[in-house]
Amino acid sequence: MTLSIKELIVEADRCVACGLCLPHCPTYRKTGSEADSPRGRIQLMRAVAQEILPNNARFNEHIDLCLSCRSCESACPNNVNYGALVDTTRALYIPKKSPFPALVKAFIQNRFLANAFVWMIWFIQKCGLFSLLKRINPAAKVLPMVAKPITWQNLYPATAENKGAVSLFLGCAGNALDTHTLQASIQVLNQLGYDVHIPAQQTCCGGIARQMGDSEESSKLVAQNQNSFDANLPILTTASGCGAGLNDYLPTHKIQDISAFLMACDWTNVDVNPLNEQIYVQDPCTLRNVQKSHQAVYSLLKKIPNATVTALAGNGQCCGGAGAYMLTQSEMANNLLDDKLNAITANNVAILATSNIGCSLHIANGLREKNLTVSVMHPIQIIAKQMRPVRQV
Ligand code: SF4
Ligand code: SF4
Repeated sequence: MTLSIKELIVEADRCVACGLCLPHCPTYRKTGSEADSPRGRIQLMRAVAQEILPNNARFNEHIDLCLSCRSCESACPNNVNYGALVDTTRALYIPKKSPFPALVKAFIQNRFLANAFVWMIWFIQKCGLFSLLKRINPAAKVLPMVAKPITWQNLYPATAENKGAVSLFLGCAGNALDTHTLQASIQVLNQLGYDVHIPAQQTCCGGIARQMGDSEESSKLVAQNQNSFDANLPILTTASGCGAGLNDYLPTHKIQDISAFLMACDWTNVDVNPLNEQIYVQDPCTLRNVQKSHQAVYSLLKKIPNATVTALAGNGQCCGGAGAYMLTQSEMANNLLDDKLNAITANNVAILATSNIGCSLHIANGLREKNLTVSVMHPIQIIAKQMRPVRQV
């Protein structure tokens, strides 16, 4: 939600400066600076809005370093809407990031260009030239091995007794880099009796544009999604970063994380093959603090007989992925990532489930850099592999 300046000041005034959010803030824990804490940032945002302090480079740095993980919101006894405060501040006071329009906008806006980009990466990887690309452009190191781009059908009909219909949100990064998760989602939903609609005109959720200070672009993307999706069908998201953005900015539609939706489905006639493995779960901040449905992931994975489902230590702290943050604030992003990698190695994790592509890319990249072999998968991929065709009754 974006506020007016007056509303921003009123919301910031609701902070009673108790400091209970401070131990939950990853940047405060790392820097120890009040200006990198939620309480400090709220004071700064209010002071700039009231023109008591100038909107200068130092102010920008403290706001830029915020991950928008919203752990502070979950901890706040006064329910201060930190997400709205920081989104508004970025829209009103933080200059648009210069690389954004040139490098990312086309990818987000134009599915044809995005597909062309993925075809190119796929071809480079097939030819064994991926290491060379990563040496030329270090930003490419976050890219996983990609699958061939998919032309989605508008409708994937249920393959079991029909229980209803849903829309599936692809997401710009998910559609480009994680089609396995989207395919697994369609498979599971169809097997549970749901028609899956994939509106062709849907676009990026707008989260990255908002984070980069381009509220105009973000609003355009939200409006396009509003016009693309049937308001009578729930929109299921597989990336909690997208789900959180849509939750905040698309109130006309019912947005749900796919694991939460699946937990409300009828599994009576579904058999799930056992898996003798320990599955660790990483909670994305957006799933915990905004969608508030992280527990559904554990319940879903516990449907797999013999699987042990365990929370990864330090789940309350952001991994540093946070959309474009891993590229724009790489020092802090890598500092936070180290904590996750330490938790992974300390527990000899072999399978890590995460419900957000940003976390998945960031963590998988860190694992590759350290030559650690861990399967990082979306929970829906794990459950899809174990599901048997629905029993006919
Ligand atoms: S959103 Fe996250 S990083 Fe930003 S102030 Fe809140 S807890 Fe700290
Ligand atoms: S917990 Fe809430 S009221 Fe207390 S300092 Fe943090 S934002 Fe302000």
